[in-house]
Amino acid sequence: MRLIDHFLAGGTAGLDSSRHSDVFDPNNGAVQAQVVLGGADALDRAVAAAQAAQPAWAATNPQRRARVMFEFKRLVEANMDELARMLSAEHGKVIADSKGDIQRGLEVVEFACGIPHVLKGEYTQGAGPGIDVYSMRQPIGIGAGITPFNFPAMIPLWMSAVAIACGNAFIIKPSERDPSVPVRLAELFLEAGLPAGICQVVQGDKAMVDAILDHPAIGAVSFVGSSDIAHYVYNRGVAAGKRVQAMGGAKNHGIVMPDADLDQVVNDLAGAAFGSAGERCMALPVVVPVGADTAERLRAKLIPAIEALRVGVSTDPEAHYGPVVTQAHKAKIEGWIATCAAEGGELVIDGRGFTLQGHENGFFVGPTLIDHVTPTMESYHNEIFGPVLQIVRANDFDEALALPSQHQYGNGVAIFTRNGHAAREFAARVNVGMVGINVPIPVPVAYHTFGGWKRSAFGDTNQHGMEGVKFWTKVKTVTQRWPDGSPDGGNAFVIPTMG
Ligand code: NAD
Repeated sequence: MRLIDHFLAGGTAGLDSSRHSDVFDPNNGAVQAQVVLGGADALDRAVAAAQAAQPAWAATNPQRRARVMFEFKRLVEANMDELARMLSAEHGKVIADSKGDIQRGLEVVEFACGIPHVLKGEYTQGAGPGIDVYSMRQPIGIGAGITPFNFPAMIPLWMSAVAIACGNAFIIKPSERDPSVPVRLAELFLEAGLPAGICQVVQGDKAMVDAILDHPAIGAVSFVGSSDIAHYVYNRGVAAGKRVQAMGGAKNHGIVMPDADLDQVVNDLAGAAFGSAGERCMALPVVVPVGADTAERLRAKLIPAIEALRVGVSTDPEAHYGPVVTQAHKAKIEGWIATCAAEGGELVIDGRGFTLQGHENGFFVGPTLIDHVTPTMESYHNEIFGPVLQIVRANDFDEALALPSQHQYGNGVAIFTRNGHAAREFAARVNVGMVGINVPIPVPVAYHTFGGWKRSAFGDTNQHGMEGVKFWTKVKTVTQRWPDGSPDGGNAFVIPTMG
């Protein structure tokens, strides 16, 4: 059985570990590897290697650090096919989507190539008599990232590219369900010229997460995963005196106004609701048609579009989406479909019990459409994270606006309309962090910033862009004076002012 190990100080750890977790091939249900589940001893080794390497890396001028990022980008591009196959084999998303996962992460690497420019500080000459004030951004030291299964390349790259370019050492704790890609990325960082110990991978589950949160030498933790764990990570990390950003779950709504181009909407919804089997924090699992007529017209167009979706193994180039990540997750999704039907939802298309010929043990869930879902239902309140689209009907714009605004999650939302005024009002008033206007998956580009509101994110800085730079650095402000020796007659006992 293949063993997936930690990647510490530029190599595999070879530590004895009595705890392992199965890594499945979601296409056929077989166990394809085991990942070690480490704890404090593996983390201590990672931290020791990071402490040895980080001061010299921080002292390396930012242009040279950026050159490592340029070379890393080249290497990831050169290894794109291999990385996409590896990602798809553990996650189950189709190859083209796996490449998208990697490419989205690479766009943050491109942003990090510009780090010399964005790290420049501020300067005021003559803030007082003979006094200048300037600020500089310095790395935290050692940062850690704890990542979910659903974007095993993009999310580790969101964090690592910015953290490392800013001069930090970075330790990734990937999801134990698809842990191979982060290890390969760390190897490519090393090949690109990053010193050993600056990008490391520790494998594990809750025990490793707790070790990270409690380790006194780790100054900042970035987490992405489900909301209850994000909240826990935030509280425990902050209690230990760390800087923490913790992104959580989502239930993104797509509002469809009566004037929307419904063919376009249906096309967009099919990809946004069912792409990657719905296992995206920016998926659109809820559609809100405004007015009964819009709802009927939309439903009539959605049914054939969903019935035409092709579910296949992740290597099938014709498949729109592949299996979900584990049998347990498949059971959870099917459980939510049953709950929604029991709560009064109308099961228009039922994807439960779907099997793929020749892959009967694969973790497949057929596309599912449920109409007449209401805000009081548990299946609406919670994230399903599968290929399930719920229709919640609204009578008017205000009712539609209230749904995502009042939901516990506030990651992303989209409005489909031809009316610029309605779109502008919606964007200004909706209580959600990322808004799409005729854009179904409004993931901001890498030089903007990513983050939700309410239970979709704990902490006050977002991922990537300047927010990422702020998260992975501390500001130091210097007030300087170079006296010429003449007496200034100041009174040292009074707080200095510029009055
Ligand atoms: P998860 O919360 O199960 O796991 C995330 C990480 O936490 C993993 O590394 C895991 O090992 C660790 N973990 C799991 N249980 C833990 C525990 N009890 N204590 C401490 N650590 C624990 O999430 P997942 O299922 O891997 O990913 C899917 C979730 O992530 C969805 O809720 C999705 O919406 C969310 N997500 C959010 C964003 C975002 O930016 N907001 C992006 C991607 C995914």
